[in-house]
Amino acid sequence: MTTTPIIGLEVHIELKTKSKMFCGCDAQHFHAEPNTHTCPVCLGLPGALPVPNKTACEWCIKLGLALGCTINEETFFERKNYFYPDLAKSYQITQLQKPFSINGHLKVDEFDIRINRAHQEEDTGKSVHVNGETLLDFNRSGVPLVEIVSEPDIPSPEIAKKYLLKIQQIVRYLGISDADIEKGSMRCEPTINLNIDGKFTPMAEIKNVASLTGVMTAIQYEIDRQTQQFEIDHIEKNSTNKTTRGWDADKQQTFLQREKEGSADYRYFPEPDIPPIIFTKEQIEEIRQTLPEMPDVKFAKYKALNLSDYDANLLSEDAGFSAIFDRIVNNNDPTYAKFVANLLIGPLKTIEITLEKINPTHFKTLYDNKDKLSSSAIKQLILDAYNSGDDPLELAQKNNLLQVSDTGAIETLAKEVIAANPKAVADYQKNPLSIGFLIGQLMKASKGSANPQLSKEILEKLLSL
Ligand code: ZN
Ligand code: MN
Repeated sequence: MTTTPIIGLEVHIELKTKSKMFCGCDAQHFHAEPNTHTCPVCLGLPGALPVPNKTACEWCIKLGLALGCTINEETFFERKNYFYPDLAKSYQITQLQKPFSINGHLKVDEFDIRINRAHQEEDTGKSVHVNGETLLDFNRSGVPLVEIVSEPDIPSPEIAKKYLLKIQQIVRYLGISDADIEKGSMRCEPTINLNIDGKFTPMAEIKNVASLTGVMTAIQYEIDRQTQQFEIDHIEKNSTNKTTRGWDADKQQTFLQREKEGSADYRYFPEPDIPPIIFTKEQIEEIRQTLPEMPDVKFAKYKALNLSDYDANLLSEDAGFSAIFDRIVNNNDPTYAKFVANLLIGPLKTIEITLEKINPTHFKTLYDNKDKLSSSAIKQLILDAYNSGDDPLELAQKNNLLQVSDTGAIETLAKEVIAANPKAVADYQKNPLSIGFLIGQLMKASKGSANPQLSKEILEKLLSL
């Protein structure tokens, strides 16, 4: 028996525009006093007229472009009708027939996941349950949402997680959303069914998954559950039933919520209060020009600098972090790139650094003097230079961290050490490994400033005479 999971993901991303999707209310709703960011439009009062947020539309197109989508130049909004307490109008303004963005794709490992659409819509209010009562907060009502729908091309829970991380990385690169799953500014609904020897189990859509681990566990639970159910049912022909299931994070189980409604049940129709939205080819091209260098491109660029997969990954993970690296490394020298990468991923990763405070000259100075500094001194100096803004070489001098690489000076000291330690010299003649003691004496005589490698070489040379 061969079982192939068929997994798709619907991802909702809350855009961090200043105002809401169809009114001027403040869209920032976290920790706000309930029902203070509201007006007749987002409360759904009769007669209130929606006005689309231009920035939100542009960001939806921008995201579509980043996902390799085709952009529909002419689109229109539609009403999706359903009743729910947190939906004051009893319809959501969304896009069904003509989304802003269609037919994109996203590469995750070796899989090319097709993206069906990225469309613009609005968020609902929130039901808050307190002491057995349900309260409603409409601060979130009308906040711009983009829904990204993948084709069912995702083969496993692990790839689903990676897909989500990539979407999160892209929207953060674009600066259009915090995409924080725990805070709900990124939400996802997996759909799963199985192909078991050519027969298909009924598709389940999973709601209320509120963490990345939850997504993986819920998908795996559903794969197991559908496999067991198939063994009981022995489906005779392909199932077309669709169900909606909830995810219970405490029990780590999905449970049946409802037999799925088709889109006909929502009675979609064009939003009569908003005229069609038109973006010309030129306007779309202008938006394309604002796209930053995306993570995959950054990664390839760093690999071309001979950096390891590990380094390239860490450096391209976050837009801000890679911008810092790019500012410091503005040449194509792989040795310098590796030197800087080690400092950024090493000592500087332990503190919060900002692009504004980073001084590329500090890195160049340390690099040019790296032969006179121990590696631990370099690590300390870059931190001190970052925090104080002082020149790292001056700091090194002030703290006596510069190693003496002057052969003459070290040779003089080495001769003194040899003369003062006849027993250690005799030991060395019997066992060359015991040179460590003499190097130690030489370092001590130089007050720690002698370059250890050079000291070793000079001692060996003098002792072999
Ligand atoms: Zn409003
Ligand atoms: Mn939606």
